Amino acid sequence: MPDSLPEILDRIDAAQPAALARLSELLRIPSISTDPAHAADCRAAADWLVAELDTLGFDASIRETAGHPMVVAHGGEGARHVLFCGHYDVQPADPLELWETPPFEPVIGASAIRARGASDDKGQLMTFLEACCAWIDVTGKLPCRITVLLEGEEESGSPALVPFLEAHAEELRAEIALVCDTGLYDGQVPAIVTQLRGLQGEEVTITGPNSDLHSGAYGGGDEPGARAYPHSGPAA
Ligand SMILES: [Zn+2]
Repeated sequence: MPDSLPEILDRIDAAQPAALARLSELLRIPSISTDPAHAADCRAAADWLVAELDTLGFDASIRETAGHPMVVAHGGEGARHVLFCGHYDVQPADPLELWETPPFEPVIGASAIRARGASDDKGQLMTFLEACCAWIDVTGKLPCRITVLLEGEEESGSPALVPFLEAHAEELRAEIALVCDTGLYDGQVPAIVTQLRGLQGEEVTITGPNSDLHSGAYGGGDEPGARAYPHSGPAA
């Protein structure tokens, strides 16, 4: 733990109103990746993040994909290289009538921020950027080399992510990857999540017999028994 950590934490507390204003700006962009009508909003969110990362001194850029663009940013220096991953797209907001306040007009309450994407994943990714901001403010630089990768299709199955990672493996290779797409233990207790489930899709084709078979003779574990009734007609 660096000696300056208490000062960095104080800095985060002092800068919270400005941090909440920045988060609110991002939350107002309806970056719904599954709805083509919001493609321009997804790009606006990516542009907003590039500008934000630029302000922090990162070398940030939009990277085109077949779908919504990636945001990639490099900052800091040193032997240690951390890859930080998050996403700027959000789930659709309908059914709209079930919202007590409009989904893209953030409401900052005593214990929660209500807006689509506040807890998945704009709040989390801005937490990291604000931590970087406070660290730079206090120490003058980032603690290590940091690459930020923010995708815009996490809520649509990330079709471009694996091809993008493969195409930019050298640029993105790091000792540790921080994935911020997680939650708190409860409203007051932060959590460090060490493992996440993967996602696997499979199509299974099952082929059965072309006629009824006697359940006592077929389909059991005892294969030789199946051969006791070698006829292929309806079961008795
Ligand atoms: Zn997420």
